[in-house]
Amino acid sequence: MAFLGTLVWKVGRCRVALPPLCRAASRCYSSSPEPTTEKSVPYEKVLKQEGPLSGPTKPLPKSAECVVIGGGSLGCQTVYHLAKMGMTNVVLLERDRLTAGTTWHTAGLLWQLRPSDVEVELLAHTRQVVSTDLEQETGLHTGWIQNGGLFIASNKQRLDEYKRLMSLGKVYGIESHVLTPAETKDLYPLMNVDDLYGTLYVPKDGTMDPAGTCTTLARAATARGATVIENCAVTGVQVHTDDLGVKRVSAVETDHGTVQTPCVVNCAGVWAEKLGKMAGVNVPLIAMHHAYVVTERIEGIQNMPNVRDHDASVYLRLQGDALSVGGYEANPIFWDEVSEKFAFSLFDLDWDVFMQHIEGAVNRVPALEQTGIKSTVCGPESFTADHKPLMGEAPEVRGYFLGCGFNSAGMMLGGGCGKELAHWIIHGRPEKDMYGYDIRRFHHSLTNNNRWIRNMRTASTRCSLLRNPYPPKNYSVVLPGNPVPLDRLP
Ligand SMILES: Cc1cc2nc3c(=O)[nH]c(=O)nc-3n(C[C@H](O)[C@H](O)[C@H](O)COP(=O)(O)OP(=O)(O)OC[C@H]3O[C@@H](n4cnc5c(N)ncnc54)[C@H](O)[C@@H]3O)c2cc1C
Repeated sequence: MAFLGTLVWKVGRCRVALPPLCRAASRCYSSSPEPTTEKSVPYEKVLKQEGPLSGPTKPLPKSAECVVIGGGSLGCQTVYHLAKMGMTNVVLLERDRLTAGTTWHTAGLLWQLRPSDVEVELLAHTRQVVSTDLEQETGLHTGWIQNGGLFIASNKQRLDEYKRLMSLGKVYGIESHVLTPAETKDLYPLMNVDDLYGTLYVPKDGTMDPAGTCTTLARAATARGATVIENCAVTGVQVHTDDLGVKRVSAVETDHGTVQTPCVVNCAGVWAEKLGKMAGVNVPLIAMHHAYVVTERIEGIQNMPNVRDHDASVYLRLQGDALSVGGYEANPIFWDEVSEKFAFSLFDLDWDVFMQHIEGAVNRVPALEQTGIKSTVCGPESFTADHKPLMGEAPEVRGYFLGCGFNSAGMMLGGGCGKELAHWIIHGRPEKDMYGYDIRRFHHSLTNNNRWIRNMRTASTRCSLLRNPYPPKNYSVVLPGNPVPLDRLP
């Protein structure tokens, strides 16, 4: 078995093939884009079905008000919120089993404080759904664990930022405390606090369970009339052009039948780009390998909060009596050929890419140096150019909505974003200011619109569109003698 400390030394000095790292994984160095075996995955026995399913788990309806594609965090949250808002003739189609894509192996961390008021609200809603609402509605526990969260400040600027986050949290009723290094040591005795300026402790942060969350969401949605169908891949999306020349969704195709619908939600994770192409919709995201490792047991780690060290780009997530260690890869591996067959699968971990996290982790919790690695979890995740999700109605096709591109935050943002998406679909606009997530920010026609709107502003042409990016569905921009329905904007 390899220890984390030994790995730092070997990778740093030798650049030679490492000895086997964990009991199950057999290759240490690999940049292979192929999925590896699933043996090193902690949840395999719970989620993986024993033999292949022979067909859809339920008969396909002939029509639906809305079809949600993908049964991961976003698909399940969206169908739940659609049903909760009263749209009950809604169908979720999942190619494999719920969570089979990225969601099943998520770390599931939920931090409540981020430097954006809208994101704080979105996160608060997710927390409310997984910690309270679902259990009240279904009687089932989602697996939510409220072990708290601890942000690390190893310089003054970072501590100042955390103080601002604490103030923001007060506005939203989120309890948080700025701790001194000594107070941090009292809370987390295994932590090295010698190089710390302080920490931000949020006692009601926690950890989401992917399988528990998604199955409970599906159960709650189904109880309200939604239909969740697994083992049913979407193979095509039919689009027609209406009398005004506007392209609109008309149906979703599968090998087991066609569902007529005016509304599709693409929640297909790293497969979203492929799903977009089926309808001529551009989905600007990229799939990358994203990873964490699970350690052996660490004495004294039980009940500790999750830790996020932004400067070291590392997180330590409590996993029973062990830790999961991960972070954002500075030199990630892209997954260019996204495979259709990838379900409940993982990649081999590339230690060259991953090592940057280990050094920061060992510095923060020195006990890790002598701790073995039990398993590696390296899966696909989608990222976008500005690190914000892709949501809302695609500019190319009316009725084609996106809920994808979640940049390693799709569990914690899932509830808030699922609710906004449902509101967007039903009412034509989200409840919150979702402009930062709106797919139209990337679209060339929006870029033109932006320029056009700026021109309008300079020309002093007053229009509520300037103040309100989400006007009602049938809103028209009235220029002198020239009413332009929004659908027909250049
Ligand atoms: C290692 C790792 C750690 C992470 N840690 C965290 C964390 O701590 N906190 C956090 O918030 N986020 C985390 N994330 C990110 C989070 O897990 C993802 O953002 C989230 O799970 C994405 O959910 P999704 O529903 O968008 O995609 P997915 O879970 O991939 O769901 C998409 C679904 O679409 C299905 N599908 C694909 N094609 C079709 C088709 N043609 N027809 C029907 N269905 C189809 C797939 O089978 C899949 O089930 C992590 C991710 C990784 C990889």
